[in-house]
Amino acid sequence: MENCIFCKIANGEIPSATLYEDEDFRVILDLGPASKGHALILPKAHAANIYELPDETAGKAMILAKHMATRLRDGLHCDGFNIVQNNGEIAGQTVFHFHMHLIPRYEGDQVGL
Ligand code: 5GP
Ligand code: ZN
Repeated sequence: MENCIFCKIANGEIPSATLYEDEDFRVILDLGPASKGHALILPKAHAANIYELPDETAGKAMILAKHMATRLRDGLHCDGFNIVQNNGEIAGQTVFHFHMHLIPRYEGDQVGL
């Protein structure tokens, strides 16, 4: 998809702070983190939102979210974890390429979701 920033990041055309990559996904640090370690799971194939996401990719994304959340928890020693995924402007989506937010939470933090 032309002019989609997350297509370019996911496919390596724009450099990013990458935590993980495989043939289907790239996991990057969020540019405006809500907390330390806030990361985004990006599928490499464009889908604007969850409605467009193929079932197979949705399944793989959930498994990857589980593995990345565990890895971030073990590395950062966070106290909790939010996994968030926004669809549509009213729901807070600002980049219209499906992504999952991985948000480590810490006692006393001020994250507003
Ligand atoms: P949304 O509001 O669509 O659910 O989430 C978009 C997220 O992407 C935001 O948390 C924002 O900080 C992040 N973001 C937007 N542009 C970029 C970018 O160019 N690079 C990275 N790493 N994150 C971005
Ligand atoms: Zn895209």
